[in-house]
Amino acid sequence: MHILLAEDDAILADALIAHLRGAGYTVEHAPNGPVAEFLLQKQHFDLSILDLGLPMISGLDVLRNMRTSNRQMPVIILTAQDTLDSRVAGLDAGADDYLTKPFDFPELDARVRAMLRRASVQSASPANMELGFGKLSFNPLLRRAHIDGAPIDLSPREWTLLELLLVNRDNVVTKEQITQSWSGDVAGNSGGNAIEVYIHRLRRRLEGSDLDIRTVRGLGYLLKADSKSAAMRSAS
Ligand code: CA
Repeated sequence: MHILLAEDDAILADALIAHLRGAGYTVEHAPNGPVAEFLLQKQHFDLSILDLGLPMISGLDVLRNMRTSNRQMPVIILTAQDTLDSRVAGLDAGADDYLTKPFDFPELDARVRAMLRRASVQSASPANMELGFGKLSFNPLLRRAHIDGAPIDLSPREWTLLELLLVNRDNVVTKEQITQSWSGDVAGNSGGNAIEVYIHRLRRRLEGSDLDIRTVRGLGYLLKADSKSAAMRSAS
C-alpha cells in the first residue's frame, strides 16, 4: 500500500512517516503543495493524507486539483483547528475523512485501515479478491482462507499476522511491524513472547500448504513458498 503524506511540519511528518512505514506501508513525503501535486501526477497512490495548511499551494487546492482527474483515491485531510468551516471545505473539496491535530496514532491507523478497506471493496467484488499462494487460497475481503479447498480457522490476530506475512512475502517482517499491525485490537499482550506464540500457531495452521514461516534471527520472520508451485496466482 502506497501512501502520499503531504505535511510541512517536519517533526510531525518524520513521526508519521516512521509510524506508517512501521505499519508496513510505503510512504512518499511532500513538504509543500507543489511537491504533492508533482508526486500525485507521477505516481500511483492508494491513499493520500493531506495537511490543509501546506505552503505555496494549500492542501485544499491540491485536493481540488487532484479531484478533477482522480475521483477514486481515498483522501484523509489533517486540519489544524477543529473549525466547522475547514472540515466542511475539505469534505466539499472531495476528502473522505479528516483528523484534527493533535491526533493519536491509533486513531490515524484506524482511519487509514477503514479508507483502504473501503477502497478495495469498491474496486473489487469479494469473490474476485480470491488470491492463491500454492495450495493456500486467501480472500482478504471475506477473511477466508483455504488449504487445498479445506477452510482453515484463524483468530483475528492470526489473520492479521498471515495477511502481513503474505503482503510482505519473501521479505522480513519485524516484530515491531507485527506489534503495530495488532495495535488496533484490544487483546492486550503483544510483546515478543506473544508474537512467538502466534507464529507457532500460524505455522501449525499452515501445515499442508506450500508456505513456510522462517525465523530470521534478530530480525523477524519471513514467509517463503516451498516450491515453484506456490508462485502467487490471482483470480482477479
Ligand atoms: Ca501545515
